[in-house]
Amino acid sequence: MQLVFATANKNKVNEIQSLIPDSIKLLGLKDIGCTEDIPETQSTIEGNASQKAFYVFEKYKHNCFADDTGLEIEALNGMPGVMSARYAGEQKNGEDNMNKVLEELLGETNRKARFKTVISLVIDGKEMQFEGIVNGTILLEKRGSKGFGYDPIFQPDFEIGKGGSSYAEMELAEKNKMSHRALAVIKLVEYLKLIS
Ligand code: IMP
Repeated sequence: MQLVFATANKNKVNEIQSLIPDSIKLLGLKDIGCTEDIPETQSTIEGNASQKAFYVFEKYKHNCFADDTGLEIEALNGMPGVMSARYAGEQKNGEDNMNKVLEELLGETNRKARFKTVISLVIDGKEMQFEGIVNGTILLEKRGSKGFGYDPIFQPDFEIGKGGSSYAEMELAEKNKMSHRALAVIKLVEYLKLIS
């Protein structure tokens, strides 16, 4: 079976290919000639993942999976959520986004947050979704320089009692084993093993 991962990043394709049975041949967007921006216009993370996977299925007639991720902060009623990439504007700048969050949480004692990844898998027009959630805390200031996005201000709960690293202070390999995205990918891989 051929399966498209709705990403332009070949490294991401290779990483997941190495986890799934060889009977499933994973393709990236470039491999199917999809070079346009895929619309992400839904109001939820689930909706955006679904929209991307169905876009590829319907336009390119390939089975496909797509992911979408957001940081949901309790005191901000779940924001930035689906707006995570462009929270501080269309420049999609990680520093600007973190500064905005830190400003909005000034004086706020409820710092609870979670990262959520949803993967939507569309096979023969039928959809399955896989979710990965990591609960944590928004720190008072940025810590660490690894990773990307909101990593310096997010401390995952699983780090409490281990040293209390932010995502940006963890080794990348370690974060990639434990992250919200990893948890969703593990569920996807288990399912693909079952059906292959
Ligand atoms: P995407 O759906 O994977 O493109 O993620 C949307 C946005 O969420 C990114 O632009 C980042 O701002 C943020 N984000 C996603 N995953 C992570 C992560 O692992 N660490 C920090 N920020 C993330």
